[in-house]
Amino acid sequence: MLKIKLCDRVAIVTGGTRGIGLGIAKALAACEAKIACIGTNPEKLEQAIAMICAERSSAIGRLPAEFKEEVEGYICNVSVTEEVERTVESILTRFGKIDILVNCAGITRDVPLGAMKDEEWDDVIGVNLRGPFLMTRACSKPMRRAKQGRIINITSISGLIGNKGQANYSASKAGLIGFTRTAAKELASKNITVNAIAPGFIETDMTAVLPEPLKVEIKKRIPLARFGLPEDIANAVLYFVSDEASFVTGQILTIDGGMIR
Ligand code: NAD
Repeated sequence: MLKIKLCDRVAIVTGGTRGIGLGIAKALAACEAKIACIGTNPEKLEQAIAMICAERSSAIGRLPAEFKEEVEGYICNVSVTEEVERTVESILTRFGKIDILVNCAGITRDVPLGAMKDEEWDDVIGVNLRGPFLMTRACSKPMRRAKQGRIINITSISGLIGNKGQANYSASKAGLIGFTRTAAKELASKNITVNAIAPGFIETDMTAVLPEPLKVEIKKRIPLARFGLPEDIANAVLYFVSDEASFVTGQILTIDGGMIR
């Protein structure tokens, strides 16, 4: 894992209760950022907070009890305006500022296009595209005032090249790429950078449901011959939030073991 210093920076990670989001929250915490972790399941959120604290504890050699107040969980459905506004307000009241926003919450509802129900389309667009919009709109206000901020959106190679059965998902992720490029242009004058990461196949609950023979076939199409790990994505997030990336904005970084190149 990369190591940078993020002491006193406040980072929001949506979808931080498991998979890639949890990996990102752990990596940021290990670099001493304060973490506001957003999820939808109270039990999972509590478990995630314990894991994030444990990671931070082993990275910086302090007991979890010493920095309990620096890692906080929030229940919020990112596709609901009122919930997002209320949650961001609570985070601001609690931590006083927002330096980093990672929009990682995402869902799939894979169905062939002809059979896709309206709600399968709306749910995926709601979480994967409306969610980052609502979170970015709310968080960019305090970031504008502070004249600094880092926003990272987790999109997908499905948004770049499409994928059968994922018309809703690939549209949401392609939309997120357009959103990233425009937000980067709009917010640059306030010293806020906006970048995106497009993962390929990463080992999480989202890909655990794929049948084993399909996984074998997919690996044959990945030059590095493996699925990625949440840490592979977290390392790129650390780069984007580092001081060394202050001139990098509007970029889409593909991390897929060489699959789509
Ligand atoms: P995951 O299913 O393991 O985790 C998804 C997270 O999003 C969970 O924490 C869940 O609680 C949260 N979430 C879902 N709906 C939400 C809502 N309405 N409001 C708030 N939080 C909500 O998924 P993952 O594999 O870790 O994927 C994380 C992100 O990376 C997603 O945006 C996904 O599209 C993207 N991605 C994943 C892969 C992969 O191979 N796993 C590949 C490309 C992109």
